[in-house]
Amino acid sequence: MFLAFDDTDSTKGMCTTFLATEMIRAIDGLDLIGLPRLVRLNPAVPWKTRGNGALCIRFGKGKGRRTLAGRIGRKSIFSFDRGEEPEDSNDLFSIGAELLSNWSRVEEEASPGLVMSKVKPSPAIYWQAVRRVIEREMVENELDRIGARSIGLCGGRGIIGATAAMSWVPHDRTYEVLAYRKRGRWGSQRKITKEDVKLLDERFPSTFNNYDHDSDAVAIAPHSPCPILFGIRGDKVEDLPMAMASIRSEAKDRWLLYLTNQGTDDHVISVAGGLDPGSTYRMSGNIVRTPRTLPGGHVLFQLSANGSIVDCAAYEPSKGFRGKVRALQEGDKVQVIGELREQPRTLNLEKFELLELVDLKEKVANPRCPECDKSMQSLGSEAGFRCRKCGRKEDRSKAEFASVVRKIEPGWYEPPVCTRRHLSKPLKRMVARHRC
Ligand SMILES: [Zn+2]
Repeated sequence: MFLAFDDTDSTKGMCTTFLATEMIRAIDGLDLIGLPRLVRLNPAVPWKTRGNGALCIRFGKGKGRRTLAGRIGRKSIFSFDRGEEPEDSNDLFSIGAELLSNWSRVEEEASPGLVMSKVKPSPAIYWQAVRRVIEREMVENELDRIGARSIGLCGGRGIIGATAAMSWVPHDRTYEVLAYRKRGRWGSQRKITKEDVKLLDERFPSTFNNYDHDSDAVAIAPHSPCPILFGIRGDKVEDLPMAMASIRSEAKDRWLLYLTNQGTDDHVISVAGGLDPGSTYRMSGNIVRTPRTLPGGHVLFQLSANGSIVDCAAYEPSKGFRGKVRALQEGDKVQVIGELREQPRTLNLEKFELLELVDLKEKVANPRCPECDKSMQSLGSEAGFRCRKCGRKEDRSKAEFASVVRKIEPGWYEPPVCTRRHLSKPLKRMVARHRC
C-alpha cells in the first residue's frame, strides 16, 4: 500500500520529510517496502514552498532481504525488498490523516494532501508534474480510476504532489540520507563541523553537492528553521550512513534514507517546439549577442535556437559561474539548460555546454602601403586605411589579424553548489555516467 503526502511545510518551518519519519514511527504494525521516496517536482511553478518535494512510502508485511534504512529514537528502521499488502488499510489511512493534520503548517500557507492507493497512478502524472504545470482535474480523474483514497486540508493542493510522487517510476535515481535535529533545537543555529563536510567529496566520492568551494559554505544543511540537521546526497545508498557518521555535529534525533529524483535533470524538456514559461528547457544554438553585465551583476546573452531568439541569464547569486558566461562570444555554439521565466522573459541558466568556439580575430597591426612600405593610417573603426605619404587607400580587411586567445574551453559549466536546483544533474554525475 502506497501512502503519499505533500505541501505540509511553510517557509517558517516543518518539512514534509519529517512527517515521513513520524508516519513510519506511528505505523507500527507494518514494514517499509523499499525506501521512502522523496520526489522533487517542477521547480519553476510559482506556488512551490521551499523545495517542492513530495513523499511516498510503501507499507506492507515485509518479505525477503531487509536492510537498515534509518533510526528513529532508539528504534532501527528496516526496509524490505518486497512485501505483502496489509489486510486492513483503514488504520493506515486514519493514522496518516491524523498526522497530516497535526503537523501541517496550515496557518502559514500550507495546503496539505494525503493519498493512499494499492495501485500506482500513471507515470504520465509524474512527468507532467516535474516538467510542467499539472491540473487538479487530471489528478482527481486518475485517483478515481485507480480507486485511491485521498484527503486534503486548506485546499488540499498537496494531493497533486502526493499523486505525482506515487506515480514516479525511476529511470535515473539518487539517494539522500537526512539527519534530523532534537526538537528543542529547532530554529537555533546548527552545529556541524565544516571541516568534515569539506572532506566528504574525497572520503565518499559517490556523494555530491556537499560543499560550496566558491562561497566557502556548507551545502548539506538548510538555512531554514526546519527539523533537518543535514542531508547528504549520493549515487550509492550503502555509502550514505557512513558519510553521515563522518560528520561531527550536534546530537541527531533520527535519520532516514530516501530514494530520490534529485540530481537527475528529470525536469528538463528536450523536445523542440513552443516554449512556455514555467518549465526548464534544453536547447542548442549560436550566440547572437555577446554576453553583457547588467546593473546588479546579472549577465545576459542572446541565443538563436529552434528558430527563435532567447535571452539567457546568469543571475548574480551564481557568482563565479558568471565569469564563464562572460567568456562566451557572439558566434559560439552552445547547449544551454535553464528555466524560462515569464517576466522578464529570460532563460535562467542551470548549466551550459560550450560546443564550438567561434574563431575570433582581432586587428594586431595596420597594413603597410605597398608603394611606400609605411604603416597606413586608420580612418576609423568601420572605414579603411590611408597612406600618409602617397594617399593610397586600402580596405579594412588588409589589416593584420590574429586569432584571439579565448579564456574558455569547450565543455560543460555549472553554477556553484549552493545555487543549484535539487533536480539539476551535477556535472559530477554526468562525468560518472560518461565513463560507464
Ligand atoms: Zn604610400
